[in-house]
Amino acid sequence: GKYTKSDIIRIVEEEDIEFVRLQFTDIFGMLKNVAITASQLEKVLDNKCMFDGSSIEGFARIEESDMYLYPDKDTFEIFPWRPQQGKVARLICDVYTPDGKPFEGDPRYVLKRAIKEASDMGYTFNVGPECEFFLYHTDDNGLPTTISHEKAGYFDLGPVDLGENARRDIVMTLEEIGFEIEASHHEVAPAQHEIDFKYDEALSTADNIMTFKLAVKTIAKRHGLHATFMPKPKYGISGSGMHTNMSLSKDGRNVFDDPTDQLGLSKEAYYFMGGLMKHIKGMTAITNPLVNSYKRLVPGFEAPVYIAWSAKNRSPLIRIPASRGEGTRIELRCPDPSTNPYLTLAVCLAAGLDGIKNQIMPPASVDKNIFAMTKEERIAEQIDSLPSTLMEAIEEMEADSFISQVIGEHISECYISAKKLEWEAYRAQVTEWEIEEYLYKI
Ligand code: GLU
Ligand code: MG
Ligand code: MG
Repeated sequence: GKYTKSDIIRIVEEEDIEFVRLQFTDIFGMLKNVAITASQLEKVLDNKCMFDGSSIEGFARIEESDMYLYPDKDTFEIFPWRPQQGKVARLICDVYTPDGKPFEGDPRYVLKRAIKEASDMGYTFNVGPECEFFLYHTDDNGLPTTISHEKAGYFDLGPVDLGENARRDIVMTLEEIGFEIEASHHEVAPAQHEIDFKYDEALSTADNIMTFKLAVKTIAKRHGLHATFMPKPKYGISGSGMHTNMSLSKDGRNVFDDPTDQLGLSKEAYYFMGGLMKHIKGMTAITNPLVNSYKRLVPGFEAPVYIAWSAKNRSPLIRIPASRGEGTRIELRCPDPSTNPYLTLAVCLAAGLDGIKNQIMPPASVDKNIFAMTKEERIAEQIDSLPSTLMEAIEEMEADSFISQVIGEHISECYISAKKLEWEAYRAQVTEWEIEEYLYKI
């Protein structure tokens, strides 16, 4: 590990750290924390911090509400955006039950379990996400709006790009807390941005995605802006994705790379893709968790709709980016940044490993624009579609028992029942669109 218990105690002393935030993520991907003062640190580092989990949505039942937080010492970090006297640090924690077992409802544990399976096969799972988000104005009460006066597009710069100062500040802040930022730019839609950080081993990447979202929101607020990771905040323009680049390495070598293959891909890479494609419909409720997620997965905005792969174009669900050698990877394009990254990376990894174990070959690649094909052409080429609503996705999840095995019964039950309620609440709404469409003419 990076830090020992005494390292952390020393740093907290030397750096004048007043508060340590103990963080974890609930099953719906919301970051939670409880703050302790430096006086409690020793106890906390001995895994003796108890909390009541019953108020956390989808977490624990009343009768088993006492939970323990076991800090992962390597995640110790000082928040640069909090006061510099009496500083604030954080530790990302695992959640344990009073009898010392990992809590089944902890998404970080679900990912650790999937990673363990990979490491038993000799693999390390490396993941690099591409998070997109919007920066919007707040109103006079400080509440978020979907208003922006900006008109910039892909790769534009100032003065049209009104978010460049906020983005610059976000990037520098992330670098201060150890992120290696590979690229940042304005995205296609007005007020839409992307910041890419370097890939890492899956657990760190999932932790990083949670930290990334917190930092982006916090720094945007300093600039009077509201950052949102909502997948499709506005009709008619691009939504925000979280393309997920994945590879496996063994003994320090990328096993997806094989220069002797026509596309430079190894058998493992094909099988991994085969597994992803086999389970993708059952996984979509995890990778795309909101009613709103499905407003993004429509033709015309560079978001995937059809289940296909290509090394040549970006219309399919899975793309193989051009780089080879250590950079060989599979890019899954459906996840959006509202997902719980621990659960998404766990199901992606497990599905890929299922492909490897059962030698599932993916169908032939589709190298033409699928959006230009007719339904008949798609049927002839056996190109299936992703679920088109949250309810369909939930039904697909229920139909693929592999997914509930990966995330465990506890999370699977909580998740499915909460998502059904979300769908029912939405289904009963009367929308602006319906009023526009029907009120006058019917
Ligand atoms: N914003 C697009 C999406 O919803 C992706 C654009 C891109 O290719 O970076 O997935
Ligand atoms: Mg992008
Ligand atoms: Mg991409």
